[in-house]
Parts: sequence; structure tokens; C-alpha cells
Amino acid sequence: MVKKELNIVKALLFWSYANLAMAHTAVDKKQEKYAAFNYMIRARLFKGLMEGSMNIRTIFDDEKIKLLSGNKCSYCGVTDNLALDHIFPQKFGGKDVGDNLVYACRSCNSSKGKKDLMEWMGCKNTFPPLMILRRYLKLVINYCIENNLMECTVEDLNNQNFPFKIEHIPVSYPKPCELILVAG
Ligand SMILES: [Zn+2]
Repeated sequence: MVKKELNIVKALLFWSYANLAMAHTAVDKKQEKYAAFNYMIRARLFKGLMEGSMNIRTIFDDEKIKLLSGNKCSYCGVTDNLALDHIFPQKFGGKDVGDNLVYACRSCNSSKGKKDLMEWMGCKNTFPPLMILRRYLKLVINYCIENNLMECTVEDLNNQNFPFKIEHIPVSYPKPCELILVAG
């Protein structure tokens, strides 16, 4: 992976998504740290996404997870005082549709406010559950495809009123033992 390539939005987002897939397999297998085959999964997915021979899976998969995991806060896992949270804040054009809505407790909901998800997580010095990050990355990727932003440079997207902040997209992930799939 050439660092320079990450200057292009498409490469940055697909790199983050490939890292997410790698992290997911490692957490699934309860690995302490990443091994060679995890890196292979990441490399193959990144290449496939860049070449267009692979696709990010539809948000429908996440809808099923949302239904199966029951009613709890997507960020901290508590089951009381739930409201619907817009992952992409409404203030920045986040839509009132299922793809963009998850359960959140009132405390997380008001703490997140209008912040970008990853920016908010950064403020709390924490990393989101992988399932919520997956949903978020898909929203970002779909947004960038729909708005012809994939071939832009990352600088082009800095400091604009998009419903996400490109500078907060994670390009390196914590060790699998520090990650969780779903909150609670
Ligand atoms: Zn919460």
C-alpha cells in the first residue's frame, strides 16, 4: 500500500473498508493480533474494490444485524432511554431513512449531537464497534459515489459541509483484542 495513493478519496475509503473487513475476521476468530492471512484478506479486498471486481456489501446486511441485535444503543449497548440517531447528522443533509438510522441512548445521542461519528469517537478517545463503523463507511462511500467525489483528492473534501469528515476516516485500526463487533 503506497501512502501517496491514500490522497485519493476512493483509495482512502476502500483502504479503510478493507481494514475493517480484516479487523472483522480477526475479531470473529478472537485473535490477539493480526496474522498473515488477515493482511491477505485486506490486500485482496482493497485490490478488488479499486479494480471494481468487488463491491461493498449492501446496507441490507446491516439491517438484518440491526433487527437481530435487538433494541440497544449502537454506541454503548445500554437498553434504556433509546431514541433514533442519525449517523449522518440531519444538519448536514443526513436523511431520515433506515440506512442512516440506528438506536442510540439519549446520553450518546446528545453527546454525539451534530458531530461526525469518527470525530465524536475521537473526542471520547475510543473506537466504534465495527458494525456501526461498517454502516458509517458504507454511507460515506455511497455518498461519495452519488456525488462524484471518489476521484477527488482528500484535500478537496477537507473543511466542507459534508455529512462526514474525510480527515477522520480511519486508515489504521486498533489491534483486534481492542475491538468489538457490536456494543453491549
Ligand atoms: Zn449509548
